[in-house]
Amino acid sequence: MKNHKQKNSDGQIQNSTEKLINHPIIKNLAVLFSQAGFELYLVGGSVRDSLLGRLHDDFDFATSATPEETLSVIRGFADNIWQVGIAFGTIGFSKAGSTLEVTTFREEKYIKDSRRPNVTFTPKIETDLSRRDFTINAMAIKLPEGIFIDPFGGLSDLAAGRLATPIDAAESFDDDPLRMLRALRFIGTLNVEPDKAVIDAIVASGDRLKIVSKERIRDELMKLLLSDQPGPAILAMVSTGLASYFLPEIEEMGALSDPSHMHKDLLKHTIQVLMNVPPDPTLRLAALLHDIGKPRTKTVEADGVHFFHHEVVGSRMAKRRLKELKFPTKTIEEVVELIEFHMRFHTYRLGWTDKAVRKYVREVGPERLPQLGTLVRADCTTQNPYLCEKYGRLLDELEARVAVLEAEEESAGIRPTIDGDEVMTFLNIKPGPTVGKILNMLLEARLEGKVTTKKEAFALTREWAKENLGFV
Ligand code: ATP
Ligand code: MG
Repeated sequence: MKNHKQKNSDGQIQNSTEKLINHPIIKNLAVLFSQAGFELYLVGGSVRDSLLGRLHDDFDFATSATPEETLSVIRGFADNIWQVGIAFGTIGFSKAGSTLEVTTFREEKYIKDSRRPNVTFTPKIETDLSRRDFTINAMAIKLPEGIFIDPFGGLSDLAAGRLATPIDAAESFDDDPLRMLRALRFIGTLNVEPDKAVIDAIVASGDRLKIVSKERIRDELMKLLLSDQPGPAILAMVSTGLASYFLPEIEEMGALSDPSHMHKDLLKHTIQVLMNVPPDPTLRLAALLHDIGKPRTKTVEADGVHFFHHEVVGSRMAKRRLKELKFPTKTIEEVVELIEFHMRFHTYRLGWTDKAVRKYVREVGPERLPQLGTLVRADCTTQNPYLCEKYGRLLDELEARVAVLEAEEESAGIRPTIDGDEVMTFLNIKPGPTVGKILNMLLEARLEGKVTTKKEAFALTREWAKENLGFV
């Protein structure tokens, strides 16, 4: 007979999972499988998250049916079916905007040096649950009855905020090293703390990451960065040494000490900036990498510690790293520019003329300015609230001036007096960055009232070409 406590916790489970098992799509699917004589269980993230009071739009199921049998059950029910995972037992489909995946109970045998296991099907849900990465992901709900199945104590781990593996952690991570990154991600998304065996296994098995594709590493890194708590996850990534296998620059930051105590702990500062920016991929990546140039540019001089041009060095380092991790070109460009320009604003307090403000807008690009403003505001992590407030006010002022200048230019419809084609014909040059530079120079001259006619524009172009290109 169950004791009172057990009854209570059963009641709580029922409440938490009720919404899930009463979801119309899940209910209908459960009826179809049971009519066909197959077992069906909800598994994975949707079970875990329902216990945390979060409802998903994508659902994972485990079944006793073979993939072919699953196909015959869902035909007529599913809106769209995809079979890319069929060799591994998975049939995916969509229904009324939700994504569902049904996988035949699996058993996995890993071969050294490959993340791809030999998959065999098994008649028992318990065997299937034992191959899963963490105890909190190894719970199941039997449908349609709603019986809760938890052979590895996932529920109590979830309640205790504990991340543990169903089998020996070292063996599990050796089998599939991606699980180490998933562990870090769950620190960020679920606010759980890995138990000692998990940490020890990450420390011991870090170099196994070499068998994981860059794309998978990238995707996990992004999930981690976009999570609610990326800070503790990044700290764990550095303290376990895992960062050194795919983001050594972050590891280097952890090691930087600063005798001036101006940047007491670069990694801590970075993490604070990361948590200060909203969960947007470009901003989170830029926040993570904005100071990676510091360890390599650090100099100690009579007047203190300097990191001259760390933003330029850092933007180059970021470009290399993001390329290596196969990020899309557009993301790389955006992140690199944010890093390169993140120090630019700091000379503003010395006083910028309208010309200097226009140059800033032109170089950064008007479309990138709001993101740069967010990053620069987030970068102020001093304990002194007065200082951040002052920076904030200055930045507000700069942004207001940008808006006024843009409105003036817009209403005046100001363009360079001659266009790109005219410049190219005049100098007999091909399209390229030089043409852009000349047009910018001509626009600047026009805004300052130095040039009003085409004749004057050509004369200025000739002068510029003589000086910068060495010909007339
Ligand atoms: P979310 O969908 O919120 O990202 P999730 O836990 O559902 O989190 P999925 O990648 O959708 O993650 O995987 C579904 C389930 O499959 C997991 O909960 C886990 O049980 C199992 N799983 C996924 N990846 C692995 C892996 N690399 N090793 C072992 N089990 C895994
Ligand atoms: Mg999932």
